[in-house]
Amino acid sequence: MEGDKELTERIRKFLRRRREDGPCLVVDLEVIRENYLAFAKTLPDTRVFYAVKANPAPEILKLLAELGSSFDTASIGEIEAVLAAGATADHISFGNTIKKERDIARAYEFGVRLYAADCEAEVEKIARTAPGSKVFCRILCDGSGSEWPLSRKFGCAPELAPRVLEHAHRLGLVPHGISFHVGSQQNDVKAWDKALASAAAIFRDMAERGINLAMVNLGGGFPARYRPDVPKVQVYGRAIFRALRKHFGNRIPETIIEPGRGLVGDAGMIEAEVVLISKKSEDDPVRWVYLDIGKFGGLAETMEEAIRYPIRTTRDKDELAPCILAGPTCDSADVLYEKTPYLLPVSLAIGDKVLIEAAGAYTTTYSSVAFNGFPPLRSYVI
Ligand SMILES: *Cc1c(COP(=O)(O)O)cnc(C)c1O
Repeated sequence: MEGDKELTERIRKFLRRRREDGPCLVVDLEVIRENYLAFAKTLPDTRVFYAVKANPAPEILKLLAELGSSFDTASIGEIEAVLAAGATADHISFGNTIKKERDIARAYEFGVRLYAADCEAEVEKIARTAPGSKVFCRILCDGSGSEWPLSRKFGCAPELAPRVLEHAHRLGLVPHGISFHVGSQQNDVKAWDKALASAAAIFRDMAERGINLAMVNLGGGFPARYRPDVPKVQVYGRAIFRALRKHFGNRIPETIIEPGRGLVGDAGMIEAEVVLISKKSEDDPVRWVYLDIGKFGGLAETMEEAIRYPIRTTRDKDELAPCILAGPTCDSADVLYEKTPYLLPVSLAIGDKVLIEAAGAYTTTYSSVAFNGFPPLRSYVI
């Protein structure tokens, strides 16, 4: 994989020149550009709404705005960041289904006209504060096949969606379409099929009520390459297109995607340092390896060992042995991998640098402000 080698080289070069100042994330904009163009090429009729929460670095937002991307936002802070990056309000959706009414009013003042809802109460807030806007209804998705499911909390049962959208219509909003999220880091390219079947059924139901929906929001779920066997974006594109054809025939609606991890995950690498290596007893079969980054420093997605980052050391050619990997804070929850120990070189030493790969998504945004006095994860965009 040529691209990966080049990425490693550009970031490694940057790291060699960097002044020592604790763990940091380095993101390569060139990789994000390539990823964006791959999405645009694979799904040419689909608008990309970058899920800002994955990594809101201003340089990333600016690049994507220049490339013509739209943005899925969840708060006024994210909307302001996107506008500051040069995008216009017609390129922004307020995709959080849980919004304060005064935030909807602010978004409306900014010119945002596309909103998500998954119940009638949320539709009422939007009708009061963002009159005439487009609303899409998020439906539940079980998230099976994904490594970081987003199920249960967001979306209503598909049977309820027509009622929510009809309510929007009654209150003077534009019932625009359906959205779902198949779960983040979705490894099953067929995961979109079931949700699209539900979406098509809702389109038919609404048509019978005299309301024609226009849009399906296919959400995120596109993976980062934590492992080499992750399918390429083209494979996802083909599977999604097949599912659209199957369920909508030749009346394929307008579609959008909201990639977060799939756009920025591979573009970033974290450099961290081994702080301590120890054993709990003489005959302890595994070493404990403590890094200067943990769950509270940006690696929150190791929760329940959900996301398993590739970790490189300078000694990877040496013999490997399992170890428990943990962060530096005084919280016993700050253990990264224990149930499934991590293989690291037996020669690994205190003070060694390690590279945590595919760490461009959901790391800086998850890092705490100063737990135990550790500063938040530094980030450089090159
Ligand atoms: C977080 C989120 C996304 C991005 O998901 P990824 O799996 O990172 O692509 C997309 N849409 C919504 C509504 C989200 O909350």
